Amino acid sequence: MIQALEAQLAAADTPETRLATWRVMQGLKVSARSSMEREDETPRRGIGGPALRALEARNRNRTVISDSTNDELDVEMARAFEGGVTTEEVDALILRKEMESRIELQYGVNITTDLTESAPTQWGTDELSEIEGTFARIPRNDLPHVGTVRKATGDQYPDGTAGVHLGDSVSLFEKAKYKGNRISSQESDLADNHARSAGGRARLPAVSRIEEDLAHEIGHEAAEHHGAAYRHFTEAAGWRQLHGDQLDDNGLDAAEIGRVTKDAARPGEVESVEHGGDVFRRQLNARWNKDGSPVYVARHAGAIPEGAGWDYAAASPDEHFAEVYTKAINAPETLHHDLVELPQRLYEDAQKEFLAAHQAMLGGLMLGEGETTALAAKTKAAGEKLARAKQAAESRSQQWQIMRQEVFGMSDKRVDQEAKRLAARGLGEDQLDEFRTQAAKAMTEDQLTRLSGRMSPQ
Ligand SMILES: [Zn+2]
Repeated sequence: MIQALEAQLAAADTPETRLATWRVMQGLKVSARSSMEREDETPRRGIGGPALRALEARNRNRTVISDSTNDELDVEMARAFEGGVTTEEVDALILRKEMESRIELQYGVNITTDLTESAPTQWGTDELSEIEGTFARIPRNDLPHVGTVRKATGDQYPDGTAGVHLGDSVSLFEKAKYKGNRISSQESDLADNHARSAGGRARLPAVSRIEEDLAHEIGHEAAEHHGAAYRHFTEAAGWRQLHGDQLDDNGLDAAEIGRVTKDAARPGEVESVEHGGDVFRRQLNARWNKDGSPVYVARHAGAIPEGAGWDYAAASPDEHFAEVYTKAINAPETLHHDLVELPQRLYEDAQKEFLAAHQAMLGGLMLGEGETTALAAKTKAAGEKLARAKQAAESRSQQWQIMRQEVFGMSDKRVDQEAKRLAARGLGEDQLDEFRTQAAKAMTEDQLTRLSGRMSPQ
């Protein structure tokens, strides 16, 4: 059947015939491959728990991919025939849709658009490459729980909204004002993300908006799928949900409560108030406040790094988890810096500062009363700074550990195992040290094996 169609396709003498023939052939190919590639769902040795659930999800998605492909092709055909179609347009359509099908079948995730003929939306081949790159970086057991990635018009959402996840479907909005800036400039050897040139154009960012957002939305799916890890993560950050009347129980005064509860038309207008080592604010995108009443959240002040790249993480525990997830996938070295190296260094600096202030205070006991009081005040301030730095270092390193071990299944033990394998292949001590230093920052198996694949005996 397919051979006959291929002959017909080769002989097609108008773009319309070519498109019509290819459409039938492509529908058949995708449905044949998705049924042929179904995996055996019988529980057996080595396939259980997360791997089995992922396998079942891949099988479910195969049916969805095939059905959706047929719907998409019908819409594309109708659009193409409506205004007349050239050979170049047919070729471009074929290239685009064949690339899409290849990625869908390889990763077991349906890729689609809002299928409305009136508002044509397509995935371009550049965007499909970005989706493919992201899929390649996501652990194999997390990915199939995302059944569908959709390019949507999203008219019902505020302008700034870049993506949402509903059920097992992730939508990325074509009209999103957000152009990507949380991790776009962060290059990563481990994730193999580097600034790119495209067709002689200026260098493109290392991480595109689609890559940032897609991994972020998949992070929301992962939070649901790794429930215990999500709980541990939010506990490490000190997240808790509060009703309006609980703000006062937490010691906030009337002015502070006024700032936290005031209406905000835009997310950027939500005010955060720091009190007693915690930050309080109105929660955005709450999945808890279904009755429409505002929900407030508190977290440890040092749980989230400073800086614009981390603003969105401060919106809610869900966004915090999804942001750490996308940073782990796209820029693990920077994540390690922000959650482990930097807070540890600041903690050590604060210890030194406190000790120096304390020494000075002891040494100053013989001085006049005024100077002693000033030195005591300085010591107290250094002590408070130390407590904050300690909290930040502990909270962030716990978050990092939980994401690495409980979500991605990466551990120091796994790194040791890989180092032993490299040693057996003849790598020298210096190279092994270099490997261990980099591997300590790897979050996923994909990142670790990419790193070890680059090491060869010198
Ligand atoms: Zn989100």
